[in-house]
Amino acid sequence: MKILVAEDDPAFRGLIEEILDRWGYEVVVARDGNEAYRILQSEHAPKLAILDWKMPGMEGIEICRELRKNEKENYTYIILLTAQNREDELVIGMEAGADDYITKPFKFSELRVRLRAGRRIIELQHELLAAREILHARATHDSLTGLLNHEEILDILDKELARSERDGVCVSVIMVDIDHFKKVNDTYGHIVGDTVLRITSQKMIAIERAYDSIGRYGGEEFLIVLPECCMECAAAFAERIRSFICSESIDTPEGMIPITISLGVATSGKNRTLDGNSLVKAADAALYRAKENGRNRVEVVADAV
Ligand code: GH3
Ligand code: MG
Ligand code: MG
Ligand code: MG
Repeated sequence: MKILVAEDDPAFRGLIEEILDRWGYEVVVARDGNEAYRILQSEHAPKLAILDWKMPGMEGIEICRELRKNEKENYTYIILLTAQNREDELVIGMEAGADDYITKPFKFSELRVRLRAGRRIIELQHELLAAREILHARATHDSLTGLLNHEEILDILDKELARSERDGVCVSVIMVDIDHFKKVNDTYGHIVGDTVLRITSQKMIAIERAYDSIGRYGGEEFLIVLPECCMECAAAFAERIRSFICSESIDTPEGMIPITISLGVATSGKNRTLDGNSLVKAADAALYRAKENGRNRVEVVADAV
């Protein structure tokens, strides 16, 4: 684990550096407070720090205060070093945001166990953040396809609509539905049906633009949100997806399965702004027309610009 040692006394700094190195830490040193603060704010900063209280530039407690002010998730565990053993200083140091406090001179064995406690906190924090990330991904994504889920894609649509109103730009949506998907299930079974849904999703992700979002709206229906995309651009993109999906059969354990999709496009534009619900409804109506008109095609809401 990386650790910062900020200490202005060269002899003492060298001593701590040597012992930490022996204990297996990757030691980063700072000779004064300003350098220490800069290092702790850098991108891959150490999460564990030993800061001398009295240093040129920023003092140890000033660094603590500044760090705690801006700190959100990336917690730094700080041990303050001081020459005096005064109770009021301990309180000031801890109130400034230090996690622990050690008085010079100290036994190395004491530093070692205190560092171990700090490391445990940092590791726990790391695990907690990782677990939270996993939970967030689960809450916002569909487990079968890995696409955004129903709630999340509608959330994104609402945000994009609000942004487009502010900036006076268009937002388009495409509702996609796999044609005769029930037949795939009936012919090859539900598991193969799942594979088809997964691969179709991957194919759509492969050609989406970087700022588009794709969600699984329901069973075999997908909603694509295209920010800053006018009707013509959305219709052209829908046609690209359609031809890409039907150009090549889906490779499944039961063999190659050809599929087609129908798509409905709707736009909330400069002249006519729609809320998320109405926009999805409009795209749904266009999709219904695509089905009526023979499937494997794109239909656009004529009046929504
Ligand atoms: P259309 O061209 O009119 O859309 O016909 P369709 O057969 O695709 O439409 P329908 O709504 O009749 O059938 C949709 C099917 O999608 C029925 C349902 O069992 C299937 N389905 C929905 N979710 C899943 C899923 O997660 N896995 C699998 N394998 N099938 C699903
Ligand atoms: Mg000093
Ligand atoms: Mg269908
Ligand atoms: Mg459907």
